[in-house]
Amino acid sequence: MATFSFRRDKIDAGELRKQLLDPAAGGYSSFEGWVRNHNEGLLVRHLEYEAFEPLAIKEGERIVAEAIKRFGIEHAACVHRIGDLAIGEMAVWVGVSARHRAEAFLACRYIIDEVKHRVPIWKKEHYENGDSGWVNCERCAAPTAEHGPVAHAHSTHHHGHHTRLSTPVPDYSRQMALKEVGAAGQAKLRASRVLVVGCGGLGVPVISYLAGAGIGRLGLVDSDRLEPSNLHRQTMYALANVGELKAELAAERVRALNPDVDVRAYTTRLDALNAPDLIAQHDLVIDCTDNFSTKFLLNDYCVQLGKPVVFASVYQYEGQLQIVQPGSACLRCVWPEATRDGIVGNCSEAGVLGPVPGIFGGLQAFEAMKLLLNLPGQLKDELLVLDLLTLTTSRVRTKRAKACPEHAISRAAGAQAAAVAQANAGPLAAALGASHLGAPSPLELSFDTLDQAHEDGFDIVDIREPHELRETPTPSAHARNLPMAALLHGQPPFKPTRKTVLVCATGRRSLAATQELREKGITDVYSLRDGVKGLQARLFT
Ligand SMILES: [Zn+2]
Repeated sequence: MATFSFRRDKIDAGELRKQLLDPAAGGYSSFEGWVRNHNEGLLVRHLEYEAFEPLAIKEGERIVAEAIKRFGIEHAACVHRIGDLAIGEMAVWVGVSARHRAEAFLACRYIIDEVKHRVPIWKKEHYENGDSGWVNCERCAAPTAEHGPVAHAHSTHHHGHHTRLSTPVPDYSRQMALKEVGAAGQAKLRASRVLVVGCGGLGVPVISYLAGAGIGRLGLVDSDRLEPSNLHRQTMYALANVGELKAELAAERVRALNPDVDVRAYTTRLDALNAPDLIAQHDLVIDCTDNFSTKFLLNDYCVQLGKPVVFASVYQYEGQLQIVQPGSACLRCVWPEATRDGIVGNCSEAGVLGPVPGIFGGLQAFEAMKLLLNLPGQLKDELLVLDLLTLTTSRVRTKRAKACPEHAISRAAGAQAAAVAQANAGPLAAALGASHLGAPSPLELSFDTLDQAHEDGFDIVDIREPHELRETPTPSAHARNLPMAALLHGQPPFKPTRKTVLVCATGRRSLAATQELREKGITDVYSLRDGVKGLQARLFT
């Protein structure tokens, strides 16, 4: 007989028992679980069991095999009902035959306890008052060994097993109660692998909700360390953790929230070298970064590898959401003249209220679950723009470009070739900022002071906004100010007569502007690496 099986009709214990008879066995022990008429103060009329059968049978068979090996018993089997059951019916039967009674008792108990812990079976109770609800059977099966009776999840006469448990187990009953989720949906979530790039304002809600939902594996990518200024929007972390790596902090939090999740922290910046492997190891990617270069990098590799990716961007009080998946428009279809990192401000420069990325991260988590559960209403070939000040939404149709995915694929290939070249070029080239775009001369330069740059014959152009200059003036008397937008739009026309170094707060906008100008044919322009912040750091250290 099968060692573990499901049955839609009545269980006949007498028939099953016969199959365990063995002249070598000196004892037989059995456990029967029955449908009882009450649970947590509610009168139960009848109930339903649902199982994710392929997985459940495999796990059930494994448990019986373990019991046989562990207790040295002769034979064991377990049968579980599914479908609709009336009060008093047998819901589960376990039988064990063994040489000695002690082994028979222990093995029988082991099997029923493990089945309740590990086998994906869900119970829906229908109450006398007309309500119904999914009940997580794992809860009933908590270790009771030290405290008395064997787990009696379905028996008619025990109250004790709902007392507080020493080690609570994850309970998905509230989401499984949705008919669109149920046992099959929960199994899908458990089988999913999701890569979250960025553990900041968007990443925090994404990671929290996906961990809570019981996603099988979460990969978390972030190379940043926690800063005190992050906490108003990254509320998963603690002030005491400032200075620690966010990917590791987030992974620790996930383990505490839900030990079912296999979580892996990647404390590295996503680049053209590591992106293909990381993306390939997951079913779905969620972009929670605040910079355009990473978004386009993700776009290109996900198009190339045929993986869906959920993008969100936030700017002050508004944000947008877009999902790129095989066959849909991608970022490059929508933004053929891709703006570079820094042209739209990021949180540190533009400012943001905590709930804004919180809301967009929540939307990303939800869209991800819609994809994984194949729920209706998925965002496709549309860009959702939501303004939180006016609470207006607009949906912009996106159109797949003819050349897509070829353009994304060629970009991905180009970026990787350049990254490999840079990695092979050694530390000196990297220090000089040998561009990942393969530009012939370095894009970034470092100076101890801007006056030194002036002495070396550079024009210094600070591209920050006037309000930033009021707060932190350019640390040089030789600099002029030309805000980034004006510089790139040529108002006034930017016609350098000498080599020029562009300066911003952190070196990101100036690098983006340098790249734009180089593409326009202005070759003798450079970006100050790490911006004004880097200069100050150098003065203080
Ligand atoms: Zn495209």
